[in-house]
Amino acid sequence: MTTKKRFKDLTFWERLYIPVIIKGLVLTLKTMFKPKVTMEYPEVKFEPPASYRGRPVLVQEKNGVERCVACGLCSRVCPALAIEVQAAETELEKERFPQKFEINMLRCIFCGFCEEVCPEEAIVMSKDYELVFQDRDSAIFGKDKLLVPVENLQDRIDFLRKFKK
Ligand code: SF4
Ligand code: SF4
Repeated sequence: MTTKKRFKDLTFWERLYIPVIIKGLVLTLKTMFKPKVTMEYPEVKFEPPASYRGRPVLVQEKNGVERCVACGLCSRVCPALAIEVQAAETELEKERFPQKFEINMLRCIFCGFCEEVCPEEAIVMSKDYELVFQDRDSAIFGKDKLLVPVENLQDRIDFLRKFKK
């Protein structure tokens, strides 16, 4: 345990405080010329690595169709009950598609469980960390905001293939 010096115990220089102030200023000056570790956001954007977990998005294939087969596993596993999926039948080979797929971004805690459980690699965590809402309704993202072309998500998909067990 450290004991505080009383004023009467201080030396002459310690009572002046000036040496300590000068020491502090020297440290400030030294730090000023060191390379910056902070970013001037939003002018400078952070480019996250593939391991980053930004907002969850739906993978859109090159033919414009979503990869999701509306199995509902992501919705089941979501601890925040943020996902709502409504399945419907389709003529396509996958037979079922999400007629409605919504994520309430006010609820999402970016845990990545939906991505982990998806059998189709149809929902992945993107690099998007900029989320601004004007009201509660605009925080509910439908397919129009969730679908992202597969080529924009390729490094995350490659990362998952490498590390997902
Ligand atoms: S990241 Fe987690 S909280 Fe967000 S939608 Fe997926 S499972 Fe739910
Ligand atoms: S995103 Fe994946 S887990 Fe969720 S409903 Fe679609 S296929 Fe199933």
